[in-house]
Amino acid sequence: MKSNFRSSLAEKIRSMSLIFVLVAAAAASAWAVFAVPEPIVDRMLEDDIRKQAKHWQRRVVLHMASVEDAFENGTINPHDAHMLTLLPEETDVFRYRLLTSGGEIFWSSRSEEIGEYEANAFFTTHVSRGEVYYMHETLPAYEVDGFPLHDNGYDSSITREVAQVYVPLMHNGHFDGAIDFYTDITELRDTFIRRAQLSLTVMTSIALLAMTIAVYVVFKTNRLNLNQLRARNEHERQILDEQLRLAREVQLLGELNEWLQSSRSLDELFEMVARFMTHILPTAEGSVYVYSNSRDVLDGCSSWNGGSHREHIHPEECWGLRRGRTYEFGSAEIQFVCEHAEPHDGRSYYCFPILAHGETVGLMHLRAIKENCPEFTASKKLAQMCAEQISMAIANVRMRDQLHDQSVRDPLTGLFNRRHMTESLRKCINASQDKGLRLSVISIDVDHFKKFNDNHGHDAGDMVLRAVGSVLEQACDGDEVACRPGGEEFTLIVPGASQEDVMTKAELVRQAVEDVVVRYGEKALPRITVSLGVAHYPAHGTMPQDLLRASDEALYDAKAKGRNQVCVADGADPAPRNPAALPEMQGPPDRRAAG
Ligand code: GH3
Ligand code: MG
Ligand code: MG
Repeated sequence: MKSNFRSSLAEKIRSMSLIFVLVAAAAASAWAVFAVPEPIVDRMLEDDIRKQAKHWQRRVVLHMASVEDAFENGTINPHDAHMLTLLPEETDVFRYRLLTSGGEIFWSSRSEEIGEYEANAFFTTHVSRGEVYYMHETLPAYEVDGFPLHDNGYDSSITREVAQVYVPLMHNGHFDGAIDFYTDITELRDTFIRRAQLSLTVMTSIALLAMTIAVYVVFKTNRLNLNQLRARNEHERQILDEQLRLAREVQLLGELNEWLQSSRSLDELFEMVARFMTHILPTAEGSVYVYSNSRDVLDGCSSWNGGSHREHIHPEECWGLRRGRTYEFGSAEIQFVCEHAEPHDGRSYYCFPILAHGETVGLMHLRAIKENCPEFTASKKLAQMCAEQISMAIANVRMRDQLHDQSVRDPLTGLFNRRHMTESLRKCINASQDKGLRLSVISIDVDHFKKFNDNHGHDAGDMVLRAVGSVLEQACDGDEVACRPGGEEFTLIVPGASQEDVMTKAELVRQAVEDVVVRYGEKALPRITVSLGVAHYPAHGTMPQDLLRASDEALYDAKAKGRNQVCVADGADPAPRNPAALPEMQGPPDRRAAG
């Protein structure tokens, strides 16, 4: 803005300077037209009159009978006198005088002057040395002999330009005398001046015109160059701005990527997304949705910069998800608002499906923070790149979760494996040591499981294992951990419960398994029973392996005592295990047929 004002001011100053130069040139030309011709014309006239004077002198001398005598003696004979009176009639001379070398006027067209002496000093300083002496003066008109004065008489305001020339008469280098001619050059001088003025006027007009055209062309060319320079500057500035913007975006995207890659969970990841997106796209409010495990709805995970998210949305509510590509609202003539974007106030928005390994895992919704927001429209590409980064990060976190799950979970039942069991038990023992909390372990083994395999096949055996696993999973709440360390053996880690409650829980599990009906093909499999052994910390051990060994021994006891029962490890108070006294277990899950 400031630079525009400056440049337009500079242009105005330049234009004004050029106009000033032209006006000055015109004024100078006008002055030249009126001032220059006079001295030049006078100079030309002087040369001309000097030549003419020589010519007049020759005429006078040629017609005189004895020039030497006349000038030497200062006398003139009647014949010569007659001839001399004719000169003013035949030439432009209106007055002339003949002078001896001593300056005496011995003849003059004005007879009253005869006998007078030349009083001017130049006669002796110049003329007597052989120089033609020229004088130009302005005299009253009555001084010009023969000039018609009409009624004006001796009016001194009427003047004439008069040239006076002294022509010396030399003989063998000796000054004999001089003839002084007066001629009226008024008309001649005026004519010459007018002609010179006319010529100068034409010439200066042409010069001025040429100069004006030249100045105009230069001005136009300069302006064109200036405009081109400005346009190029502007273009280069835009390129630079664009490059700076891109560099910043690349840097921010790089940072976003680095942070997202180091996030450990989806929650942490969405927190980072919210922070970064507010910074990268300040003109957009946004939200992120991720498909739930059931994949029938998307769960709202995060929103930022004034945006909000719903708890759940259905995939059909979003045109981006339905069409499988970015949906842009606000750029087409005919367009529909996504249901999840309702209530809608007319602001532009984008829906970017988030893809991970070719599968749609979620949705990023960005909405302009205000109506008519060109910055938002311009940021589509950047937003798209952000969505891609976020997609990759979600995919990574998910893959990491999956790998972690695979490393700690048993694929058949989904319960934790032996490795995780040992790890969890160690952590629970540490926590119990630190906080003095209770801790118990229940070992569970399916009774006569081999028979399921032998009589109904391995698949049926697997179904039984899944059913028992499901019962155990349902039985766990809070910090309790259900594991399948191997084969048809299971373990429950129960922290924070009294020995009595643990025994109750074990009995409830036993009952729940007993109640499970597993259908295999057309028929139901025989009733499943489990034997359970319980060990308590620290009574039966303070190390994971000691506790597990104690609970296993209790389990063997249960087997030995006829199976389908709960035994507690030796050394702890046996808790009452009257099944009739036990409460109903909350919703035994696998009463449902598992096949
Ligand atoms: P007990 O009442 O004394 O525990 O008798 P049992 O038959 O349950 O015990 P045993 O140790 O004799 O048999 C365990 C069987 O479980 C042997 C093995 O083939 C089978 N088994 C181990 N892991 C799996 C599995 O993942 N799937 C199936 N279907 N069977 C398994
Ligand atoms: Mg066994
Ligand atoms: Mg068994």
